[in-house]
Amino acid sequence: MKQPAHIEALHAYVPGTQPQEPGWVKLNTNELPYPPSPRVAAAVAVEADRLRLYPNPTAQPLRRALAAHHGLGEDHVIVGNGSDDILNLLARAYSGPGYAIAQTSPSYSLYPVLAAVQQAPVLSVEFAADFRLPVEDLAAQAANLLFLTSPNAPAGVAFPLADIGRLAASFPGLLVVDEAYVDFAQETAVELLPRYRNLVVTRTFSKSYGLAGLRVGYALAHPEVIAVLDKVRESYNLDRLAQAGALAALEDQDYLREVVGRIRSTREAFQIRLRERGWFAYPSQTNFILARPATSSGRSGPEVAADCFRFLQTRKVLVRYFPAHVLTAPCLRLTVGTDAEMATLNDALDAWQATAK
Ligand SMILES: *Cc1c(COP(=O)(O)O)cnc(C)c1O
Repeated sequence: MKQPAHIEALHAYVPGTQPQEPGWVKLNTNELPYPPSPRVAAAVAVEADRLRLYPNPTAQPLRRALAAHHGLGEDHVIVGNGSDDILNLLARAYSGPGYAIAQTSPSYSLYPVLAAVQQAPVLSVEFAADFRLPVEDLAAQAANLLFLTSPNAPAGVAFPLADIGRLAASFPGLLVVDEAYVDFAQETAVELLPRYRNLVVTRTFSKSYGLAGLRVGYALAHPEVIAVLDKVRESYNLDRLAQAGALAALEDQDYLREVVGRIRSTREAFQIRLRERGWFAYPSQTNFILARPATSSGRSGPEVAADCFRFLQTRKVLVRYFPAHVLTAPCLRLTVGTDAEMATLNDALDAWQATAK
């Protein structure tokens, strides 16, 4: 069967490995190591008895609760099948041939895939090694849509709110701040929303709420943008179980605070251990750490990172390695797990450093 040339040439997004056999310490896809709030299973069980019926097409109860949670009107919210669905809707509505997408590099590798489906040019602005936000460079891109991951993935660093505000003020297109990890950080661009009509903030239940398997994300933006996204979405883009589960999770903010607090303290402790080991680690405001492995004699670089990655795999510790970019090639991205998982990782790193000179 024939396909349009841009689809034939398309490279699908490559997700991190999801091993099917047990026994792995899984620190590669930034999932929460703790279960979601117990209220989720109870809410989902109730809805399981109603699966004969279509879900609420706009997920209105969830939208209303999210709006209240963020102190915004209900018309400022749209929900989706993961924030990937929301990012897709943004690309569908605001990019295409002649409507370029700008991004930083490195960044979330889904963005170029979404652009390719739309036949939208991609304009990439490179980070320097310090991962400071190149505000002027980004603002000067002739793009209709700009995807910015903040706090950043894969570096884990947060950008000052003032920089994001300056970018929103100077970039003429739609600025999408992908806040997948923001619950582990200190600042959010949500507070900039009243000031900038061209600002969209996307969020997910996959990371801090521990619901990657349920697939719920949302966007907050000016009602005009939300109305456009509502035009291009699937009519039932959030199923019954997902609507009920996400609502229950949102209503249990005490639980969220508790698990986020645990991740933060594990993260801070582990960053110290990495530095004691002689490794450089970017200061993380997320639930992962981008760190540069160094051998016992202080060597580092892409070969060292690849060697460490392979060694960890032999110990059934799975982390993420991004060899394709010069800034990530000497590094590994380590998801923050439980204290016990991080102790296993730490022991494995001791063993690797004992062999790697
Ligand atoms: C995990 C992640 C998402 C998306 O998550 P969903 O599971 O689709 O909600 C979006 N952006 C970034 C940067 C992520 O890391």
